Amino acid sequence: MIQLYIPLNFLGVIYREIKQALTDLEKMFGLLEREREIDDAPDAAVLQVHDGHLRFEHVGFAYDPARPILHDVSFEVPPGKKVAVVGPSGAGKSTLARLLFRFYDVGAGRITIDGQDIRSVTQSSLRQAIGIVPQDTVLFNDTVEYNIAYGRPGASRAEVEAAARAAHIHNFIVSTPLGYDTMVGERGLKLSGGEKQRIAIARTLLKNPPVLIFDEATSALDSANERAIQAELASAARNKTALVIAHRLSTVVDAHEILVMEGGRIVERGTHAQLLAAAGRYARMWALQQSGGSE
Ligand code: ATP
Repeated sequence: MIQLYIPLNFLGVIYREIKQALTDLEKMFGLLEREREIDDAPDAAVLQVHDGHLRFEHVGFAYDPARPILHDVSFEVPPGKKVAVVGPSGAGKSTLARLLFRFYDVGAGRITIDGQDIRSVTQSSLRQAIGIVPQDTVLFNDTVEYNIAYGRPGASRAEVEAAARAAHIHNFIVSTPLGYDTMVGERGLKLSGGEKQRIAIARTLLKNPPVLIFDEATSALDSANERAIQAELASAARNKTALVIAHRLSTVVDAHEILVMEGGRIVERGTHAQLLAAAGRYARMWALQQSGGSE
C-alpha cells in the first residue's frame, strides 16, 4: 500500500506542478498575444527621449471597426507634468494608456513622445521609456526581490531595497520570514491589493522611466492605504511626465490638467479650480465624492 501511495502522492505533486506551469504559460501567452498584434516598422528607430513631452493629436480608435471608442482626443503632457483622466466606467480612459504603450495602434491622429510618432520607433525602446503601474499588478511566482528587480534586470539587492523603501513596502517585506527571498504570487505569500500596487511602484521606481502611466485601482482601498499609495505615487511621479487614470478625484487635485472623458470624448478640461468654477460634470462628480458617494 505504501509502495502504491508514494508514487500516487508523487503524481499528485507533479500534476499540481504541471497545472501551475500551464497556468503560467497561459498567462505568458496571453501577454505575448497582446504584444504580437503590433509589429515594428521595418525602419523603426530607437525612441530618443529628451524631456518626455507627450502629445495625443486628434486620436481616434476602435477595437472593433463597428464600434468607435475614441473620438478626436487631443491633449498634451508637458515634460515633468501630471495630466489626469477622469470619467465614468467605459469612457475610454484605460484605452488611452493601452494606445500609449502601443498594445494597439491609433485609428486616426497620432501619439508622439518628444515629437516622435510612437509608430515610428521600436516597441522595445518605447516600453523602456514608459513605466506602468496597472490597476491589477500581476506578480510572478517568484521571490519579492525578483518581482521588484523585474523593473530593471540586473539591479543589485541594495537598489531593490532602496526602491522598496521609497514605495513604503520595505518594512512589510522584512517582516516576512524570508524577507526579500519570500516567494509571492499564487504559490507563495498572498499580498493585498495595496501591497501588490506598492510592489508595482517599487518596480517602476527601479526602472526609472521618463514617462509614467498610473492606472488607479478601481477597487476601494481603505483611506489610510489610499493616502499612502497617493504619497508614493507622488514621489514616483516627481519630475516625470505622468498620465494618471483616476477613479478618486482626490488624486487629481494637483494635476496640471484634468481631462473629463465621456463616451470616448473629452467633454471638459482644465485645472481642478477651473473645473469647479465651471460648475459642470467635474464639479458634480467632486460634490458627489465629497459627500461620500461615487460616480
Ligand atoms: P473603467 O473606468 O471601467 O476602467 P475606462 O474608461 O478605462 O473604464 P476602457 O477600458 O478604456 O474604459 O474601455 C472603453 C470601451 O472600450 C468600453 O466600452 C469597453 O467595453 C471597450 N473595450 C475595452 N477593451 C476592449 C477590447 N479589448 N475589445 C473590445 N472592446 C474593448
